Amino acid sequence: MASGRFAPSPTGSLHLGNLRTALVAWLAARSTHSAFWLRIEDLDPVASSLVHEESQLRDLALLGLDWEPSVVRQSARSGLYADALLSLESRGLVYPCWCSRREIAEATQAPNRPDLPEGAYPGTCLQLSSTRVAERLLTARPAALRLRASGVSRSFVDAVHGPFSGVVDDFVLRRADGMHAYNLAVVVDDAAQGVAQVVRGDDLLASTPRQILLGELLGFPGKEWAHVPLVLGVDGARLAKRDGAVTLADQASAGHSAAWLCGLLAHSLGLVEWAEPMSPGELLDGFSLARLPTSPWTPPYEVLWRA
Ligand code: GLU
Repeated sequence: MASGRFAPSPTGSLHLGNLRTALVAWLAARSTHSAFWLRIEDLDPVASSLVHEESQLRDLALLGLDWEPSVVRQSARSGLYADALLSLESRGLVYPCWCSRREIAEATQAPNRPDLPEGAYPGTCLQLSSTRVAERLLTARPAALRLRASGVSRSFVDAVHGPFSGVVDDFVLRRADGMHAYNLAVVVDDAAQGVAQVVRGDDLLASTPRQILLGELLGFPGKEWAHVPLVLGVDGARLAKRDGAVTLADQASAGHSAAWLCGLLAHSLGLVEWAEPMSPGELLDGFSLARLPTSPWTPPYEVLWRA
């Protein structure tokens, strides 16, 4: 049974793009009679809030989705992440890094490093001698902890986008402020919750080789991956508040019911020919990830701006 999940960060209201991805994740799990988990990714205590968490759960339920009774919160699981980190450390797979964001940006833009994709870590602190490292551990500001990935690549076949591969950089496992990083937490949680099918926005496609490698190093089973194309505003940028009626509440004020919205999202995904009010359950029959579109969707102007 390929148990699935939706893992929102409670940093704001869910917009049409989040709701659309949640709908696909739910359909993928429930169409195979699998468990569907909700995980609140509230690692960052400053950006996360209970108010947003509650509004997100309310909107998902209003849309007609359901989930397993125990909702997991990442803020309560730091012990699990620390254990995983310790297991990597004990095998020499972790090293400290003192680089600032600026230093990393400058290194990746250096003319002699055309091999590095934007934002990839150039391995600066890996070159430090052990004496230097010992010295810095005593005197310098706290270090972030990075995975020693040794430049390996990982490939997989995405259920929506097809074959994808990427080089894994030495990504951060724990930030300098002590907060466990997203890639570590998500891999540990998916394994702990028995998640076998990850459906999420395709802005995370490039992070997947990292998560595959980390899962292997921690001895976790492989998973099915499906990255759903994003919803964009009319300016071609990722959907945001400035784009008009982007939340379920905005749509309700414009006179649109949750069932109407479900029909619109289903139509945008090519699941139904006409956008008419419906419930997610009506879309279960014959649902297949392989038939989803691979390009982003921009909602019609009148949906976003009909006040
Ligand atoms: N928390 C992430 C987000 O809201 C999703 C992470 C994931 O699905 O792996 O974008």
